[in-house]
Amino acid sequence: MDGRRYVPANDNTQRYPMQTTVSRRALLNGALVAAAALPLMKLGTSTAEAAALVPLDPNDPSAKALGYAADSAKVDGAANPTHKAEQVCSTCAQYLGKADDAQAGCNLFPGKSVAAKGWCKVWAKKPGT
Ligand code: SF4
Repeated sequence: MDGRRYVPANDNTQRYPMQTTVSRRALLNGALVAAAALPLMKLGTSTAEAAALVPLDPNDPSAKALGYAADSAKVDGAANPTHKAEQVCSTCAQYLGKADDAQAGCNLFPGKSVAAKGWCKVWAKKPGT
C-alpha cells in the first residue's frame, strides 16, 4: 500500500455522499409513486379509449367480409354454417371488453367497438369463458 485510498472510478459516494443518498431516496420515492399511480393511469386510458371507439357498422366493408352481426341471434345460419347460437363477441378471444360491457373494442377492428352479443366468422373461444 502506498498510503492512498482506493476509490472506484464510478463511485461518487466518497465525493458527494449527501447527493447520492438523496438521489437514491428520490429515485425510490419516484418509483413508489409511479407504481401506485400506474393502475389509475391504466384506468384513465381504458376509459378514454372506450369513449373514442366508434360502433362498428355491420355494413362496413370489413365487417361485411367477416359476416359481422351486432346480434348473434340474427346471424344467417345458411350463410354462416359454423355459427352457433352461444358464440358471441363477449366470449371471443379477440374481444377487448369485460364480461359486463355491452360494447367494447375488438382486435380485428381497430378504432371500432363491437356489441358484446355480436358475432363474426373469426369468433374463437376466449380461454376461461
Ligand atoms: S373477432 Fe370476435 S370479438 Fe371481434 S367481431 Fe368477431 S366475434 Fe366479435
